[in-house]
Amino acid sequence: MPEQDVSPKDATVRPMLSLVVPVHNEEGVVDIFYNRIISVLSPVTEDWEILFVDDGSTDTTLACLAVLRAKDVRVKFISFSRNFGKEAALTAGLHHASGRAIIPMDVDLQDPPELIAEMVRQWREGFEVVRAIRQSRNDDTWMKRTTAKYFYKFIQKIAHTRIPENAGDFRLMDRKVVDAVNRLPERTRFMKGLLSWAGFKTTQLYFDRPERAAGTAKQNYRKLWRLALDGIFSFTSAPLQVWTYIGFMISLGALVYGLFIFMKTLLLGVDMPGYASLMTVMLFLGGMQLLSLGIIGEYISRIYGETKHRPLYIIRDAGGVDEIN
Ligand code: UDP
Ligand code: MG
Repeated sequence: MPEQDVSPKDATVRPMLSLVVPVHNEEGVVDIFYNRIISVLSPVTEDWEILFVDDGSTDTTLACLAVLRAKDVRVKFISFSRNFGKEAALTAGLHHASGRAIIPMDVDLQDPPELIAEMVRQWREGFEVVRAIRQSRNDDTWMKRTTAKYFYKFIQKIAHTRIPENAGDFRLMDRKVVDAVNRLPERTRFMKGLLSWAGFKTTQLYFDRPERAAGTAKQNYRKLWRLALDGIFSFTSAPLQVWTYIGFMISLGALVYGLFIFMKTLLLGVDMPGYASLMTVMLFLGGMQLLSLGIIGEYISRIYGETKHRPLYIIRDAGGVDEIN
């Protein structure tokens, strides 16, 4: 393999390393990221590409990417027609990255590029996935840390796939792994889950998550809430099945209570009071039914989403990659 860069469209010669970087309104940090990558990667290898996925930025991010590409052909980009979300951006990046090893990472330097050297070392030793685990996330607000913690606890209990706590998308993956993930047909892209689902020979590194280099967080609570629901509903059907058991328990309770009332009426005669207990049971059952209906709705809306077969993203512009997806 040549150490230097190869012609971008030449699919027969792959760069050793692809960095897949989703960006959404990140004009202030793209250059900082690029400079840091250059200095960190030069002792490791020159045989790399950075594939930025511009997720519908409304600032000058795309122009910054074009300037970088004019300067360095190892910088490639895809630009979406609108904001499709980070998971779609990662999906597009994995579809179009050509490296023999691929690392998805955030542009804000919260995934420290310094770890790449160690990841590559472990990969050369034979690991197919090198996961980076956040040892601390002091940069995040108390609210985000706590919600994340309980989300992972919950999903680990009920999901069929083990989704490791504190592992983001930042990980090195061998070509084989990415090819396997790219073959997954589903539209609901909970990337952390899909990447873990793929399996392969995995090892992990630990790091302290630094603060954002510049700019503000683009993943708001609304997006994270949708992501959490996607994670749960696309990796387990336990919320659907649990109703069988809840229904059974409630019926059993109702039967016992019914027998009790029957005996009481036989022995002590009819008495009318019972408004409070009747109301409580009715409201409780009504609430349960709506909740279970809502959960079925969550699954149906995902089935509906899958059957529409809409593309996960639309590319408007690209530099250095095949635009067809
Ligand atoms: N991002 C994206 N599309 C979005 C939101 C975020 O591509 O709709 C990118 C963003 O530019 C950054 C990465 O995803 O590179 C992580 O975003 P952020 O730092 O806001 O999230 P957090 O650090 O809170 O997970
Ligand atoms: Mg961040």
